[in-house]
Amino acid sequence: MDTSLSIPEIYTALFDAYGPQHWWPADSPFEVMVGAILTQNTSWRQVEGAIIQLKLHHCMDAETMLATPPEALRQWIRSAGFFRQKSNRLHGLCRFILQCGGVEALRDLPLETLRPQLLTVHGIGPETADSILLYALDKPIFVIDAYTRRILQRLGYIVSPCTYGAWQQLFHVALPQDLLLFKEMHALIVEHAKRYCLKTPQCHHCPLAAACPVPTNR
Ligand code: SF4
Repeated sequence: MDTSLSIPEIYTALFDAYGPQHWWPADSPFEVMVGAILTQNTSWRQVEGAIIQLKLHHCMDAETMLATPPEALRQWIRSAGFFRQKSNRLHGLCRFILQCGGVEALRDLPLETLRPQLLTVHGIGPETADSILLYALDKPIFVIDAYTRRILQRLGYIVSPCTYGAWQQLFHVALPQDLLLFKEMHALIVEHAKRYCLKTPQCHHCPLAAACPVPTNR
């Protein structure tokens, strides 16, 4: 692998540039879980409106949300897009939480037990599951998203096979298994992808530019 920055060095450079990100912005673990579904294929700005609506309608717990008719739920989360699909997914998540005995009961389960169960819930794939595990349930597992792959590939990282699990393993090997570090690192990557490492990268003031091959290649 021909890379000029190790993953801990990327963390240090991003943290020095952006500081603590205070993720995930939410009032409760359930709200984090809801946000993890609502943000699928949607910007966080669009999700915020949906979260506000759910709170205004006192619909931020699993029992209430599951008892809410799908039509009402769809209306409240409309701003997050894909609202029919997401309302079904939210109801599926609520059923799962309640079948398991609530959010706190989920938190008590070991990661190895909980992750496969979460992945059986309709519409919850690895990225959403790991976001829920890390930010709602405080399980030390690293979240991989399109931003992570984009930035790491531009920095010269290649994983083979190029799968979610292989990218995740890269972080699990490179970083100590530290919950707060995993939370901060993922948040910093998202911040970096939004500020500089956009689809069309803005390399000029990027804090990683000195060690990144992309600016000189263009
Ligand atoms: S220098 Fe450009 S391509 Fe490299 S990490 Fe920064 S923004 Fe992304």
